[in-house]
Amino acid sequence: MGPPGAGKGTQAQLVAEHFGIPAISTGDIFRANVSNGTSLGVEAKRYMDAGEYVPDEITNNMLRDRLSEPDAADGFLLDGYPRTLSQVDFLDSVLAEQGAELDYVVELVVDENEIVSRLLKRAAEEGRTDDSEEVVRNRMRVYNEQTAPLTALYAERGLLVRVDGMGRVEEVAARVENAIVTASRSA
Ligand code: ADP
Repeated sequence: MGPPGAGKGTQAQLVAEHFGIPAISTGDIFRANVSNGTSLGVEAKRYMDAGEYVPDEITNNMLRDRLSEPDAADGFLLDGYPRTLSQVDFLDSVLAEQGAELDYVVELVVDENEIVSRLLKRAAEEGRTDDSEEVVRNRMRVYNEQTAPLTALYAERGLLVRVDGMGRVEEVAARVENAIVTASRSA
């Protein structure tokens, strides 16, 4: 977990590779659907371009389908999901059906000013339609209102691992990996 621009996607790839599990990014799945022009993509794009969350029902069904694929059977890292309380509940029920549970919830802690400048830089480089300044600000607001409160819930469950997300990509990845190993030793 972490605000837009915290580096979740980059870290998710590295950390998932380190542990030999797939990184599952709801943002990437939505973007793939948008590029392929699927009906899911057409629907999702309306929300993404405004910096709003795609409705839970759409996101939840998509996530359940993805988790049922064979590569996720022995573990996975979720990037960008859950983002709402209803997604937390849904994930709990999907995992319960599979007899699985979350091991850790990693929060990347970053400085908000730094993030905004990273996102605007990415907008210039990659041309993501949801990286304009106005949309970036809305994504921050939506994150702070709907998603940031979920970290307290996972902290209560004893799952939250907070990691400093500032610094070089490799440094942050090493911190996440160490934090997970340390948490699993003390569990
Ligand atoms: P970021 O975290 O940098 O904002 P993502 O690539 O994770 O970007 O997500 C891009 C967009 O995809 C979000 O702004 C939202 O519209 C949609 N999205 C991704 N994950 C979810 C989710 N779990 N629930 C609802 N919408 C989502």
